[in-house]
Amino acid sequence: MTLSPDVLLSRDRLYLGGAWVPPASGERIAVENPATGDILGHVPAGSAPDVDAAVAAARAAFDRWAATSAAERGAALTRLHAALSARAADISRTVGLELGAPLKIAAATHTRLPLTVLQGYAELAAGPAPAETVGHSLVVSEPVGVVAAITPWNYPLHQIIAKVGAALAAGCPVVLKPSELTPLVAYLLADAAEEAGLPAGVLNLVPGTGPEVGAALAAHPDVDMVSFTGSTATGRAVAHAAADRIARVSLELGGKSANVILDDADLTRAVKVGVGNAFLNSGQTCTAWTRMLVHRSRYDEAVSIAASAAAKYHTGDPFDESTRLGPLISAAQLERVRGHVERGLADGARLVAGGPHAPVPERGHFVAATVFADVDPDSALAQEEIFGPVLSLIPFTDDDEAVSIANNSRYGLAGGVWSAEPERALAVARRMRTGAVDINGAAFNPAAPFGGYKQSGVGRELGAYGVAEFQQIKAIQR
Ligand code: NAD
Repeated sequence: MTLSPDVLLSRDRLYLGGAWVPPASGERIAVENPATGDILGHVPAGSAPDVDAAVAAARAAFDRWAATSAAERGAALTRLHAALSARAADISRTVGLELGAPLKIAAATHTRLPLTVLQGYAELAAGPAPAETVGHSLVVSEPVGVVAAITPWNYPLHQIIAKVGAALAAGCPVVLKPSELTPLVAYLLADAAEEAGLPAGVLNLVPGTGPEVGAALAAHPDVDMVSFTGSTATGRAVAHAAADRIARVSLELGGKSANVILDDADLTRAVKVGVGNAFLNSGQTCTAWTRMLVHRSRYDEAVSIAASAAAKYHTGDPFDESTRLGPLISAAQLERVRGHVERGLADGARLVAGGPHAPVPERGHFVAATVFADVDPDSALAQEEIFGPVLSLIPFTDDDEAVSIANNSRYGLAGGVWSAEPERALAVARRMRTGAVDINGAAFNPAAPFGGYKQSGVGRELGAYGVAEFQQIKAIQR
């Protein structure tokens, strides 16, 4: 991969109303490299007056953008996709630096995936707007209005594109507040929007902290919809703020997904793919299959395959080709994950790989790929979202017990099922109370709806369902 040496790691402006403007306050946010602890650069700490200005710019753009023809809107998104694609190397490098993502993941999941998703939205925007006849009514979809997009750090560009691309395709202008831990890649999107000539005010960028910029956006009287991805605790606060004015919300929250390996599964593949899924992005993935449920007849074998697979997840410099596991995002996250590992040991889980004494680089926020066996399904290890490379193995006796353990969670985001019999796998998948289930390691589908049951969220992102989330339905009787 060729890396551009001159990617900008410090910014001092906001992108508002199609122009780069200075922030209201001189406060700045330092962006850290989690692999070293060094400061990479700074971005402005936006504040309430910046939010007001950004929402006003989006509101001013609304009528025109909402009325843009499908062909024009599709063309604008296609130009945005081209301008962002031209920055692919910078995106990979930026996410490699601000998130600590290893090279391969930085290029694939953090760069190619959001570009694919954006291309899909451009095609949907260019297509016919949904409309149907119900009796003597014409039912049409219209843009919901001004959208606030509040995003986390773990898939910094993908989560931005999942919202911004869909909202723009639906005809909604957006005010984007990226995570304060990974704000730099969001600037590459604003650069692309400027180059693509998106109309002024259609995309606005206000970096800043959650309590300052995020809370001001969630409570803003002129924001029609808040699209939030992050923790369940913050999602609850955002939903409360939006409820006060009956604004629409979509919430993509946490997860504690189960990977159910039935007795007739291809065990080696199921366990290896499951370990890879759990450790992707250093385990900082909302859909991560952090609970591996294995039939008792194959459980001991599964534990040993998982332990040796985990041993191959070397931590190290994300820019070194051999590194498979980057750092966690912050010192605070490292402390949280270490706390979960200690508590798991105290609760009697059996450590079979990694753990607190496994070697990791001295600098940076690293934790070793860790596997616990014999985890009590009710214990904190099996119930709490850890957001680190920590996998828990749990045995089960039959399909009913597997489903019951899988559903023993306040979350319901994703999951996996493995079986040699497609109908049996499908039956188990249908009984899992989650927004997505992959059978036998089927690939992620970026056009399929994505979202949670239970405390994993409200609403769906991606593809046509993702665009519909940003639309109102109107019935016209005639
Ligand atoms: P977080 O909740 O701390 O922050 C998410 C965003 O909310 C950030 O931009 C933050 O600045 C902002 N924020 C913080 N306080 C706010 C407030 N009071 N009002 C408004 N905005 C506020 O989450 P995080 O640590 O950045 O991300 C990790 C979490 O995100 C995990 O729980 C993970 O499961 C979840 N996640 C979910 C999905 C999904 O699609 N379901 C995807 C990725 C991550």
